[in-house]
Amino acid sequence: MSKVYQATHVGKVRKNNEDALIFIEPETFVVADGMGGQAAGEVASKMLIDTVKNFLPTIPEPLHEDILKKAILKSNAAILRAANENPNYRGMGTTATILHIYKDRAYYAHVGDSRIYRLKNKILEQITQDHSYVEDLVRRGELTADEARLHPMKNILTQAVGAVENISVDTASFSVHAGEIFLLCTDGLTNMVDDNEIAKILLTSENPAETLVQAALDNGGADNISVIVVKV
Ligand code: CA
Repeated sequence: MSKVYQATHVGKVRKNNEDALIFIEPETFVVADGMGGQAAGEVASKMLIDTVKNFLPTIPEPLHEDILKKAILKSNAAILRAANENPNYRGMGTTATILHIYKDRAYYAHVGDSRIYRLKNKILEQITQDHSYVEDLVRRGELTADEARLHPMKNILTQAVGAVENISVDTASFSVHAGEIFLLCTDGLTNMVDDNEIAKILLTSENPAETLVQAALDNGGADNISVIVVKV
């Protein structure tokens, strides 16, 4: 059984925490980063978490990536419906990143710019790809990864749950080995703390979730910060 650590923090600048996260036992992990005016971002990320929490436990394990994707599509429909019914919720949306581990295999489904990382043989590797304007520029070779980190349009997503009816969800599965560490996080961590520091904390901290949040706060805490760490 994996060891799980989780933490979320409003940060030093924002008034609300629009992130949401959940650990569904035995081994399913979800982070969501909501967006939208007048606290609607909080509503969107909470709706995502609630929909996933109600749906996934009705399915026998292992939860293949298509099931995780279905949970995101159900959330998308629910968020769109709420936004249509309530003008205060118009335009709200959320990222959605779900990881499920069953025996020696991991499955994920993902929309937006929250991330899954894997630390393996002391090397940190980003598993998910960001659905963002800036990431598209990097992929096309028009920006370097370092330029992307500080780009003023970093926040613009090309995909979000609840934004439109037809979203495309990234999915995959891969094998898992003892000793690997997985990190799910929102961009409030990765915009504040670089990969080297993240890897160092994952390798050395007694409570890596709390330490990662503290590192993001120490570096400015400009956004909400959410972290789940899974030590297999
Ligand atoms: Ca964020």
